[in-house]
Amino acid sequence: MKNLLFTCSLLFSTALLFSCTSSNSDNAQACNTGNVTLTTNFATGRMDSCKRIAENEYFITLKPEINKAKTPINSSPWYAFKVQAKQPASIKVTMVVKGDEHRYPPKISKNGKTWQLQPYKLNGQRLVMNIEASNEAIYIAGQEIINNEYYDDWAQQLLEQSSISYDLLGESTQGRPIYKIESKGSSNEWLVILGRQHPPEITGALALFPFVETLLSNSDLASSFREKYNILVIPNINPDGVQAGNWRHNANGYDLNRDWNDFNQVETRQINAYLEQLVENNQKIKFAVDFHSTRSNVFYTMPVDYGVENAYFVRHWLGDLDKKMPDVEVVLKPGNNPDLGVSKQYFSDKFGVHAITYEMGDNTDRQEIIDIAINASNLLMSNMLSDKDHNKQ
Ligand SMILES: [Zn+2]
Repeated sequence: MKNLLFTCSLLFSTALLFSCTSSNSDNAQACNTGNVTLTTNFATGRMDSCKRIAENEYFITLKPEINKAKTPINSSPWYAFKVQAKQPASIKVTMVVKGDEHRYPPKISKNGKTWQLQPYKLNGQRLVMNIEASNEAIYIAGQEIINNEYYDDWAQQLLEQSSISYDLLGESTQGRPIYKIESKGSSNEWLVILGRQHPPEITGALALFPFVETLLSNSDLASSFREKYNILVIPNINPDGVQAGNWRHNANGYDLNRDWNDFNQVETRQINAYLEQLVENNQKIKFAVDFHSTRSNVFYTMPVDYGVENAYFVRHWLGDLDKKMPDVEVVLKPGNNPDLGVSKQYFSDKFGVHAITYEMGDNTDRQEIIDIAINASNLLMSNMLSDKDHNKQ
């Protein structure tokens, strides 16, 4: 494993990650006696049990959250915990995932902005790491921590630089705000951007930020684009899941990206209602991008023969991206699954347009994620503005 240094880099990166006042009481398992403490009383904090098994040796178990949808939970064992010691100590931490395997190589941070890979060994199912604990808190997490406050800070920075609106779209199951960012030009056509349905999918968030920043930039292309198209960004759809450090679900134990047919959950229901109300007011949804992470870079698309308008639009766009970045591996996977309840299918079925699920690999180089996002965003705009006939190959 390369010992990469990466930062949660945004173009406007002054956000503090750890304004962590609320505690995760549901998941507040901790080793919090003695010289060294391992705790989760901060936003996104999660380990399901912690035991001190010897002097300076700790054993952490990760377990999936309760799944009320009765479908197998996605294998995304998230963890985030804080280590602190009254007197400096070298500790050994062993971590296992109950009924599953590890997915995220551990990262370490002192300031919540700059993260490094934490050296570790895998002994079968046991992930073992040695950590230097001191009076200065350190954070260990499955990926860089991007909590709810981070999104708010990011949007506030955008507000200072762009002509956008930033306000409440609705509330989550537990009453947390779900925000929307909007740019309105002179037309009635909309590009929709969604993010963070699945809490641990940080590389999707790391792509969404530069993608949206590029759409909202001062370039001639972006300015022309915003004149012709409106933009709706809902960057953090599952704030309860983010807060709790869930592997997959919202606070009710539902996978929100399986709920775009039934709208059982308040998060998806409110977004659907908002989009319906736009359309009732003579607005038109033209395209949607939903940001996620998986094991490698994959763009899930709708098939060209699915019958939506501009059949070849996504192929033109992503063909341009491939020409621009020939050395970057992004796999295109067209698919059609009407019963699954994913957002991509919803946009195509409900509005008759293309949409994609934009997945970045868990371990994709962080700078490459930014480069892909900036190019994909610019090429999306140029394709949406071009005179090319997207109904033809
Ligand atoms: Zn996902």
